Amino acid sequence: MSGRSPTAAPAVPRVGFVSLGCPKALVDSERILTQLRAEGYAIAPDYAGSDLVIVNTCGFIDSAVEESLDAIGEALAENGKVVVTGCLGARSERITERFPQLLAVTGPHATDEVMQAVHTHLPRPHDPFVDLVPPQGVKLTPRHYAYLKISEGCNHRCTFCIIPSMRGDLVSRPIGDVMLEAERLVGAGVKELLVISQDTSAYGVDMRYRTGFWGGRPLRTRITELAAALGSLGAWVRLHYVYPYPHVDELIPLMAEGRILPYLDIPFQHASPRILRLMKRPGDISGTLARIRAWREICPDLTLRSTFIAGFPGETEDDFRRLLDFLEEAQLDRVGCFAYSPVEGAAANALPEPVPDDIREERRARFMEVQARISTARLHRRIGSTMRVLVDAVEGTRAVGRSAADAPEIDGVVHVARARGVKPGDFIDVRITRSDEHDLFGQPAKD
Ligand code: SF4
Repeated sequence: MSGRSPTAAPAVPRVGFVSLGCPKALVDSERILTQLRAEGYAIAPDYAGSDLVIVNTCGFIDSAVEESLDAIGEALAENGKVVVTGCLGARSERITERFPQLLAVTGPHATDEVMQAVHTHLPRPHDPFVDLVPPQGVKLTPRHYAYLKISEGCNHRCTFCIIPSMRGDLVSRPIGDVMLEAERLVGAGVKELLVISQDTSAYGVDMRYRTGFWGGRPLRTRITELAAALGSLGAWVRLHYVYPYPHVDELIPLMAEGRILPYLDIPFQHASPRILRLMKRPGDISGTLARIRAWREICPDLTLRSTFIAGFPGETEDDFRRLLDFLEEAQLDRVGCFAYSPVEGAAANALPEPVPDDIREERRARFMEVQARISTARLHRRIGSTMRVLVDAVEGTRAVGRSAADAPEIDGVVHVARARGVKPGDFIDVRITRSDEHDLFGQPAKD
């Protein structure tokens, strides 16, 4: 396919294709056309018969630029729904300045982004084989919440963990694909998106934060941009497994503004700089405490969840006390603690001075005792407040749900009495009347 004579094809939805430029651009065109056909789109012979037109441009010399701009102008005039890709697209401002009405503009070698734009503006045709699976995919969670995986693998090498050796280095999903999946989930009734990965805050590092596309608009493959875009869909957005990078600070204002839930699941693992070094984790614990204080100043409602390991090889009583001191100072809301257990293949197994089993367990129990007191006190502060709750289950007039502070499965719940006329997936405002170590109790605020 080249020149301005798109080939004929049978059925709807139909895409017109204009391919300009060199053999490399031609290969890009072929890839996009192959993908279109594989997904059941037809290639239309003319602008009038197309539901959407893709123009693959060339930007090599001035005359090629002019020819490309002319082709875009012609496609817009004749059809109106136009996606631009190719070398000229790499200088997108040059195109959008002149043609602000384009659906999307991508650079060269961007089959995925072009296909995302096509999916957004001209949904995929029904395929009786693939469409046995609903458009939002198969979900194992209740209908009103869903996990959204944004990447696979991890670039860190924490010595207790074998995930990188099993799953490899970080590979982020294209941001347009993630957003499309999120949109479909919300469209299918999902009220809460739980963002997961092995390393959520590293999202896009492997792609050098390249600009993708969503809804025809450029969007950087980066966690702050992704969180803000997800927050615009109208569902709760909860972030899990956030490694404590400096740029996590950027997420807190989004939480303070109510765009994503004020909830951060941020595994700290330990608080003794010596043990953190042995774990190959960031060791600036006083910096961490200062950041937690700053986050809470910006977002006083912030719920912090974390996980820790007690009895890591080489941990002394002094290291462990530092960990307890950190807990007292950080006043985290939700905390999990594991006694160190040597996972086969983990580098930490080779570290000297392993802690005996009984001491690992004893430290874990002491840790949980301290944290139970802190969690209880933090929950107690909620009494008298009104919290928005997403209902998970209803039995008679009693409902169980979760507030912004509670992730499913791992955190506590809100027990709601006198919850008449509510069903799973509803939001209700609940007046909190009682608390215990894990859960809150209350009744609908309007009662
Ligand atoms: S613990 Fe988390 S951050 Fe560390 S290597 Fe494993 S997956 Fe990566």
